[in-house]
Amino acid sequence: MSDRLELALYGKGGIGKSTMSANLSAALAASGARVMQIGCDPKHDSTRLLLGGRSIPTVLDYLRDTPKERQRLSDVLAAGFGGVGCIEAGGPKPGVGCAGRGIISAFEFLERTRAKDDYDVILYDVLGDVVCGGFAVPIRREYADAILLVTSGEFMAIYAANNILRGIRSFDGDEHSRVAGILLNGRALPDERARVERFAEAVKLPIVCRVPRSEAFLRAEERKRTLMELEEFPEERAVFTELAGQVRAGLPLRRALPLTDSELEEAVLYGRRTVSVPAREEAKAPAPAPEPEPVRERAPEKRPALYGCAFTGAATIAVHLTDAVIIAHSPRACAFYTWQNISSTGRKNLFNRGILMPSAISPNYETTEIGHAEAVFGGLDKLRSHVERAMERRPGAVIVITSCVSGIIGDDAEALERMSTPETPVIVIPADGDMGGDYMQGLEMCLHRIAERLVDPDAQTRPMTVNLIGELGVGFNTDVNFRTVKGWLDALGIGIGCRFLGDAGAEEVRRLTAAPLNILAGDSADGRALRSWLEERYGCRFFPRCLPIGFDASRSFLEELGGFFGVADRVAPIVEREAAQYGAEVARLRPLLRGKRLFMTTINTSMDWLLDAAESCGMEFCWIGVLNYLRQEVKITDRPERRSVAEEITDFPAVLERLREKKPDIVLSNYTASVPEGDYIVDNMPMTQPVGFRSGLEILKRWALLLERRREGEWSHDRALFEKYFA
Ligand code: SF4
Repeated sequence: MSDRLELALYGKGGIGKSTMSANLSAALAASGARVMQIGCDPKHDSTRLLLGGRSIPTVLDYLRDTPKERQRLSDVLAAGFGGVGCIEAGGPKPGVGCAGRGIISAFEFLERTRAKDDYDVILYDVLGDVVCGGFAVPIRREYADAILLVTSGEFMAIYAANNILRGIRSFDGDEHSRVAGILLNGRALPDERARVERFAEAVKLPIVCRVPRSEAFLRAEERKRTLMELEEFPEERAVFTELAGQVRAGLPLRRALPLTDSELEEAVLYGRRTVSVPAREEAKAPAPAPEPEPVRERAPEKRPALYGCAFTGAATIAVHLTDAVIIAHSPRACAFYTWQNISSTGRKNLFNRGILMPSAISPNYETTEIGHAEAVFGGLDKLRSHVERAMERRPGAVIVITSCVSGIIGDDAEALERMSTPETPVIVIPADGDMGGDYMQGLEMCLHRIAERLVDPDAQTRPMTVNLIGELGVGFNTDVNFRTVKGWLDALGIGIGCRFLGDAGAEEVRRLTAAPLNILAGDSADGRALRSWLEERYGCRFFPRCLPIGFDASRSFLEELGGFFGVADRVAPIVEREAAQYGAEVARLRPLLRGKRLFMTTINTSMDWLLDAAESCGMEFCWIGVLNYLRQEVKITDRPERRSVAEEITDFPAVLERLREKKPDIVLSNYTASVPEGDYIVDNMPMTQPVGFRSGLEILKRWALLLERRREGEWSHDRALFEKYFA
């Protein structure tokens, strides 16, 4: 915990809380504190007096207009009187959008940019009329340490103050005391003082400050200054100086004990004594909540966006923690589409290759089925009961993934991490649908969170083991590749400590640091980012090569791996066996494929493993086109001699033009459905490349078969083929 104090001033709109906040910030700054004031009212005028009437860009306007990689705190932070750091969260125009969600996004930005790091006091100025999930963010426990209720003697202002107490109570119950008291901003109304005193007594709170009605505020407003800057109002200044002194000395904090509506009327309007809400039965001592991790920026390397949502990306990888229960805090539809995404690969693998992937066919995945009622009244209670039921099953972990809806309504799902037990951590992935980013960002967020909660940084070393890192959750070849690698490792006497994350239990993830070596599955930007993170965070040591594709790469991979573990002598027999099989396979395929013209259109830039195999079978390359939609820097093939037939292309119609010119026998594409029928066979370029010595030959075998079928006339009537391979 830092020594920084985070104080939230809540009050009904128009009650003067921004004036109170600005004057209190100014008084705190004058007392020597480093203060930041964050305005959380869509009107965005909280810091106006501190800034001499100047208005500043709001965080939300800025986030909307600025690409994420160019967002900087300094663009929205301005220094006001006494060096007070001024921030306005902003919000949508009245009548549109969701201001509460805006507050959530603004707070996420401030966390991400570590905006509060250089200040002693953070003062949140928050609209308290509507304590929906978004406006309640500042009173979540990871933000406000203390809360001041600003009110006048008007019944509706007191009503709003009581509502705020309800919001605080729903976060804190009887476990925490965070209410500092009431700030009475006098309006010179009849019976005003007595009304507020009656309310204060009923909710057992002190009135910590009484600000008298005064012309001084009007004059200061006209001059666009805080009272601290105006010599002529010593009495009013003294009120704020005194309050600042109390804040710095530490205001005693009390529990929130709100009244029911009828109790409030009785107490405030009719002066009848009333009872506050009885204290709840003392809850069982909760497990200590983990310190919230600062939200990290993605690694700076530019990576292509994948247009699934962060929720889907997180769920797709989370199901690979096999003994966990994954709870999608989402409507049924989001969970269903994600389930389809997860299970389609599993089903394809089962039907086409007879490979059973339990976590993909029948994922350990359920949903809270957020509906209308939860969208209006909040879904936290429903989520809590789901987590409770899941905990009864004693899983290795309970993973909660939040969707767009739970993000918009502001459910504080992360608070449920307090339900963790030593055996079963509750891990919340705050994906908030696509507000947490795209598919890959959700996946990354999920991996980081799981590691942070499970990995034991000091696990005892287990020699002769490796971890496999960054296998693709839904890759068609993922499991086939794993089997290939496992076969090699078994032959070398090397065990697999943990697949992070692929069909691993919580215990295996806990021991991630026990393996002396880690192997990255694929050389993608996301894989490299995960590698750097694990190196930095846990000191993981990585093998310099990723899982190899093709004969030469596989041989070098095994030789170096054998050398690392001192079992180089076991490598030669594997390579000899593979070489013999490779030779036999080439001899069989060569007569079938010799002279056949290959046309390739792909988004993958790694292709030499396939072209090597095609070349050894005597095939010709008539065109190699790399589709570079994102116009990134790409390197097409490592072999200079192949570049004469290679081309970088940015739109698919150009591919079709080349297709008409080149007259190929085989078309290999990532988009087979877009290739028109013709006098050639069409095959799919795998997104996850097949690992191993015979990676390319496996694909060539398929071409040989298809060409043969076509020769026999079967291809043009391919129902039999379809039934054989896909039905
Ligand atoms: S973007 Fe939002 S609504 Fe769509 S599937 Fe993802 S979580 Fe559900």
